[in-house]
Amino acid sequence: MSDSSDAEELAALTTTLKRYLERRQRAGLRYLPKAAAPVPIPVTPREIPNIMAGTELDMLADTHVAGRAETLEGLRATIGDCQRCKLCSGRTNIVFGVGHPQAKLMFVGEGPGRDEDLKGEPFVGRAGQLLTDIITKGMGLKRDDVYICNVVKCRPPENRNPEPDEVAACEPFLKKQIDIVRPDIIVGLGKFAVQTLLNSKVPISKLRGVWASYHGIQLMPTFHPAYLLRNPADKKLVWEDIKQVIKVMRGEHA
Ligand code: URA
Repeated sequence: MSDSSDAEELAALTTTLKRYLERRQRAGLRYLPKAAAPVPIPVTPREIPNIMAGTELDMLADTHVAGRAETLEGLRATIGDCQRCKLCSGRTNIVFGVGHPQAKLMFVGEGPGRDEDLKGEPFVGRAGQLLTDIITKGMGLKRDDVYICNVVKCRPPENRNPEPDEVAACEPFLKKQIDIVRPDIIVGLGKFAVQTLLNSKVPISKLRGVWASYHGIQLMPTFHPAYLLRNPADKKLVWEDIKQVIKVMRGEHA
């Protein structure tokens, strides 16, 4: 890279950072969040090295796509009647997310299934009932106390995994949702959500139960509730993960 393109990139980064700090200031946030101690996880390198990976600045890399929204309502309005990827053709509703706009705890799943697509709300089918039980019976919280969303906001046909171009189109909105809610803890539900959040190809069986960091926010990877419906014997592992989350929420460090 030439000196002039280095300088241009630095200038663009500086402007982005300045705008970000101004936005935080306008929102009454006068200091930057404390960086959590990084938990080393094996990560597949990107083809183009991302010099901002793992830093707060990485959150900004594609925020222009998600616009300048500073509230969840504003972000939902920015998404509009989204046609940014091919999933739009098969959806009934965009499934944006539900819950407390300043939740301390956020659950991130993969993408809406049939029930979610019809209702426009995440985790309302059978897997959703299990997640609701984890939140209410397991954690003693209400669904309204937490925030629940998915990596992609439109249902993939036949519930297949979202494809890379679909994730690329939707990820800026997830990042922005996380940036707006600013939870203390994210629970990543299943291989797809966890690997997307951590930009990792490590199997969920290796990642689950071990605290990781998503841009300074503590992330607990665990199995997806739909996997638990097929493999109920693994519910005890998820309960171990959830107990760790409860401990940290109570201020007892893991
Ligand atoms: N599975 C998901 O990953 N998300 C939902 O909203 C429902 C099922």
